[in-house]
Amino acid sequence: MLRDIHNLIDNLYPEMVEIRRYLHQYPELSFQETKTAQYIAGYYKKLGIPFEMNVGGNGVIATLKGKKPGKTIALRADFDALPIQEENNISYKSKVDGVMHACGHDGHTASMLVLAKAMKSFQQNLPGTIVFLHQHAEEYAPGGAKPILESGKLDDVEAVLGSHLWATTPFGVLQTSKNVFMAGNDRFEITVQGQGGHGGYPQQTKDAIVIASQLVSNLQQISSRRIDPLDTVVLTIGIFESGSAFNIIADSAKLVGTVRYLNESVRETVMEEMEKIIKGTCVSYDASYKFDYVKGYPPLINHAEDAELVMQAGSCVDEINTIEEIKPVMASEDFAYYTMKKPGTYFFTGANKEGNPYPHHHPKFDIDERAIPIAAKVLISAYFKYQENN
Ligand code: MN
Repeated sequence: MLRDIHNLIDNLYPEMVEIRRYLHQYPELSFQETKTAQYIAGYYKKLGIPFEMNVGGNGVIATLKGKKPGKTIALRADFDALPIQEENNISYKSKVDGVMHACGHDGHTASMLVLAKAMKSFQQNLPGTIVFLHQHAEEYAPGGAKPILESGKLDDVEAVLGSHLWATTPFGVLQTSKNVFMAGNDRFEITVQGQGGHGGYPQQTKDAIVIASQLVSNLQQISSRRIDPLDTVVLTIGIFESGSAFNIIADSAKLVGTVRYLNESVRETVMEEMEKIIKGTCVSYDASYKFDYVKGYPPLINHAEDAELVMQAGSCVDEINTIEEIKPVMASEDFAYYTMKKPGTYFFTGANKEGNPYPHHHPKFDIDERAIPIAAKVLISAYFKYQENN
């Protein structure tokens, strides 16, 4: 049966491309993706597969119950876009100013919808239940995964599987991990309040730019001097805002950044050490500060047995020539919440478009569309592996 399913997915490839390109032209930002949700729901309505809308926000869940007994497995695809102005010159370029599917979630949605269409025709012989989990708001914490789990609609689901089309991984390669796969990701904002003044009289001021500059370098010592060298942490300051004129000493300065880590105890240490460094530095300059630390997505930890099944599933797919267990990547994903609550695994389907070196979240991001059916084939093959492992 799996062979027939793969063949049907191949036959439906033109529809996958058509859906992906349609969605690509009409991207919607996280938590605002109502038209995309309606599009998804409309597709299931046409297929005659029962679905629910507004799950935990704009989430859509469709359920295909097989006529044979088996496990209930959710396959997840996210569908939000990013606040980026597209710079690709393609016929299906984003028609929405400043919004772009720059992470491939259009491809995820196309893959899942067409997989559902294919599986509908195998319902008679299908063991178990497929839950097509269309998740909103992956790109913006607190994200869509958490409220979907909290809605209780996944309570009967025994495992969650998901694929990301990965533009920097070559076509034909499948990558996953039996442990931590993607990083935890938090956001912080520091405001240093000094005392501004005349550029020629520094002794009468508390120069916020000098103080914040000390912070930029002192905070880098968290990873080099305050964390076990065998643990992983990245602290990046992406925004440094201060000053108004060349001859005025700045009154205040704002630093905004992200912390990435692979286990949650490291996050706690980073938060404590940041506070100490900020406080100590500001005290030494007689300045005050405000420090906000917003916890984002936790590290994404795959379950080893499920990762094993996904890798076996990969070997059932003709187009996959390489299956790799990789080191964790420092990007993050709210798929993390599913594997905290349920068994499951996340994996990358190589989707590098030849000649396109641009990474995810770039204005020239693009994918090799031939990877869209591959993701569907691996997911459904893994689904069948689960059923065999009853
Ligand atoms: Mn993504």
